[in-house]
Amino acid sequence: MTNLFLVFISSIYLLLPINSSNRNDISSIQLTKIGNFGEWRKERPGVPAHHHTGIDIMRPTKNYENEPIFPIANGKVISVRTDGPYAQIIIEHWLNGITVWTLYEHIAGVRVSVNDNVTPQKPIARFMNRNELDKYGWQFDHFHLEVMKVKPQQIKPTLKHPERFFNAYSLVCFTSNDLNRYYFDPLDFLKEHV
Ligand SMILES: [Zn+2]
Repeated sequence: MTNLFLVFISSIYLLLPINSSNRNDISSIQLTKIGNFGEWRKERPGVPAHHHTGIDIMRPTKNYENEPIFPIANGKVISVRTDGPYAQIIIEHWLNGITVWTLYEHIAGVRVSVNDNVTPQKPIARFMNRNELDKYGWQFDHFHLEVMKVKPQQIKPTLKHPERFFNAYSLVCFTSNDLNRYYFDPLDFLKEHV
């Protein structure tokens, strides 16, 4: 299945989600120390131990005001939450007849709404600025990117999260089988296609 998938989308190309003089150059992406895909995350209050389902991408410059975050491909926004450090955007992409979903989290300054069509040329959000990091904690000085193989789970929006229509599989990957069922390693996925 995976091989077939790669054959189908081998002709597409993606752009890195961060600002760079060359958004086709994967070496522009630096991960945080514990930001690798699949890394085992210990239990913490309210969160069971789980595999890290994405990568944590470091801010590419010293811009602590408005460092932009871009979608990696054309797509349509299907879910948004704008609350504090867990602000999140989920985008559905059709890539040569195959669908994948990307998620951008620990972001701020969200510029899109559900049903918006996006392109990799236009920022959808930014890294947290200095004030936000002082408020929420400097452990959020990165953004978290996921690439899903499976459609995220539909959930009912609430008054607090009126545009949150989908939930990713971020906290339910307890084995490497779970991880591979739902996710691509975003770095491999980008390497293959940028
Ligand atoms: Zn992360």
